[in-house]
Amino acid sequence: MSHRIRLPDVSETLTSMPTSGPLVDTFGRIHTNLRISVTDRCNLRCTYCMPEDVVFLPRQELLTYEEITRFVRLLVPLGVTKLRLTGGEPLVRRDLDKLIAQLRQIPGIRDLSLTTNGILLAEQAECLYHAGLRRINISLDTLRPDVFRHLTRREGLERVLEGIRVARRLGFHPIKINAVSIRGVTEDEVIPLAQFAREHGLELRFIEYMPIGAGHWERSKVYFAEEILQQLQRTFGPLRPVLEGDGTTPAQEWEYPDGGRVGIIASVSRPFCHRCNRLRLTADGKLRYCLFALEETDIKSLLRGGASDDEIVLAVRQCVWAKWEGHQINTARFIKPTRTMHTIGG
Ligand code: SF4
Repeated sequence: MSHRIRLPDVSETLTSMPTSGPLVDTFGRIHTNLRISVTDRCNLRCTYCMPEDVVFLPRQELLTYEEITRFVRLLVPLGVTKLRLTGGEPLVRRDLDKLIAQLRQIPGIRDLSLTTNGILLAEQAECLYHAGLRRINISLDTLRPDVFRHLTRREGLERVLEGIRVARRLGFHPIKINAVSIRGVTEDEVIPLAQFAREHGLELRFIEYMPIGAGHWERSKVYFAEEILQQLQRTFGPLRPVLEGDGTTPAQEWEYPDGGRVGIIASVSRPFCHRCNRLRLTADGKLRYCLFALEETDIKSLLRGGASDDEIVLAVRQCVWAKWEGHQINTARFIKPTRTMHTIGG
C-alpha cells in the first residue's frame, strides 16, 4: 500500500496553528471530508455496533437540520468539499430529503453521499434522489437471512435487497456495499457478496472488524485484508492493485482480471491514518478528529450559545490542530472510545 500518492509533508513548517487556509493538522494532513451523523437511532441492532438494550438520545439533543447546514456552510470555505450523511441509521430521521436539499444548495460541495443499512431505502430512495442525492453506501455483511438475523438481531434482508433494486432502477451511482468481515461469522460471505456485486454493478468494500462497537473486541475475530484478498484471488484469479485516485479514500481498491473492482478497508492490518482527511460531526453536535478519538469539540454549545462564525471556525481549527497521528489499535496504548459506532456514525 506504500505505493499510494502521499500528501505533501508540510509539518516542518507548521509550528503554530494556521488561522486561515485549509484545515491542516500538525502532520500536514488536509481535511476536506466531513461525515455527519444525523441520528444515533437505528432500526437494526448489529452486534458489533450497539447493545440490544440501547438508550437513544432525546430529540432535542440532536442538531437540527438548520444547525447542521450552518456548520457545513462555515466549513466549505475552509476546504471541506465532501459530505457523507450517516447515523445510527440516517433514514429513520424524518424529512432527511430536506437536509439533503439544503446541503445541495451550498456552493463548493463536490460530493454528497449517504450510508444506510438499506431497510428503509426502497420507500425513501425516490425522494432522496429528487432532493439531489446521487450516491449511496449500503451496509450489508451477508446475503444469508440466518446470518443477517444473527448479526443484526432483526429481520430485513429482503427489504435491503429491494432497496438496492430500487436505487439501481432510479440511477443512483455509484452504489457501494460495505461489508464488515468477522472471522467465524462472515468470512464465508466474501465470495457470495463479490459475485452479487459483480452481477449487479455494485462497488463492494470489505471492512476489517474494528474495536469501535458494543461488546468486547477480539483481534482473533478480525478477518484480515490479506485473507480476503486470497479468497478473492482463489476464485477470480490474480487481482491488480488500483493505484490511481487522490490517495485519501480508506479503501485499497483491486481490479478483477476481467474488469470491475473490489475494495478492502484494512483499518487494523494496514492503517491509512497518514493520509486521513476526515472529520466527524456526531448527531449531538460533537466534532471528532478521528473515529477512535478520546476527545471531542462541543460544536452544539457554540451553535446554540450565540457563538459567532469566527468563534466556531476557530474551534474547528483547534480541533484539527489537536488531531493525533492515528489510531493506536496495534499498540498497548489503545483505549477503546466510550462512544459506540452508532453514536459516531462510521
Ligand atoms: S483511525 Fe482516525 S486518523 Fe486513522 S484514518 Fe480513521 S479517522 Fe483517520
